Amino acid sequence: MIFFDTHTHLDYLAQDLNLSIPELVAQSEQAGITRLMVVAVWAKNFQKVTACSQQARQNVVYGLGLHPLYIQQHTLADLDELAQRLAQRDTHCTAVAEIGLEKGVEAVCTAELWHKQQTFLEAQLALAKQYDLPVNLHSRKSHDTLAVFLKKAQLPKTGVVHGFAGSFEQAKRFVDLGYKIGVGGTITYARAQKTRETIRKLPLESLLLETDAPDMPVFGFQGQPNRPERLKVTFQSLCELRSESPEQIAECIWQTSEALFWHKAG
Ligand SMILES: [Zn+2]
Repeated sequence: MIFFDTHTHLDYLAQDLNLSIPELVAQSEQAGITRLMVVAVWAKNFQKVTACSQQARQNVVYGLGLHPLYIQQHTLADLDELAQRLAQRDTHCTAVAEIGLEKGVEAVCTAELWHKQQTFLEAQLALAKQYDLPVNLHSRKSHDTLAVFLKKAQLPKTGVVHGFAGSFEQAKRFVDLGYKIGVGGTITYARAQKTRETIRKLPLESLLLETDAPDMPVFGFQGQPNRPERLKVTFQSLCELRSESPEQIAECIWQTSEALFWHKAG
């Protein structure tokens, strides 16, 4: 079975582990994780994220975007730079990412910054529409607001709500809008009952797998940087939750991932 890790921060992982991108990608490939998407978080790492893909073009696509957790640092000039890079993108830039909303961290949720988060989200959704790209979305304690923006934006290529945690109703609303649900390490924790129940009930065609490496450690590996190889631990948990066979699950998720994030890369 082969897998596509649809949400990673390989540039940060390489730094944490003191490994090169080709080394990291080779290790992932050996474990069956043959494709990876690397997402940016701020303008400062646009170049590094682009380089990750250039160093491993057979395996790595990437997305550029401004993450809501760093909303204080983002400027209008960063948005201009993002627009410019998207206009001049290569075939391996297949998403606007990582963008979204963060309501779980007080420091970025003052009235002023919450408003700025929404302004930057709206601007980046407009760029995704302009350049006909899907989005890779961050959403913590903000699913209701995010759904309103997605409904308004009407993106032809939609995208994924990554590392989803939440209720079936919240997930279903994204799915009804055409979005996929990113299944990450959360479901490996028995205590995450609500999210596990959500992932169990959603249509298989709406699911993607991801690690968010080096973040979101899976159960049993807490305290260590998360790695693309650990996608298989999450896959194992997913298979325990679902009624389909592991082969069926892997095949369906592979097809969905390819269609969303690899179709243009070639
Ligand atoms: Zn992320």
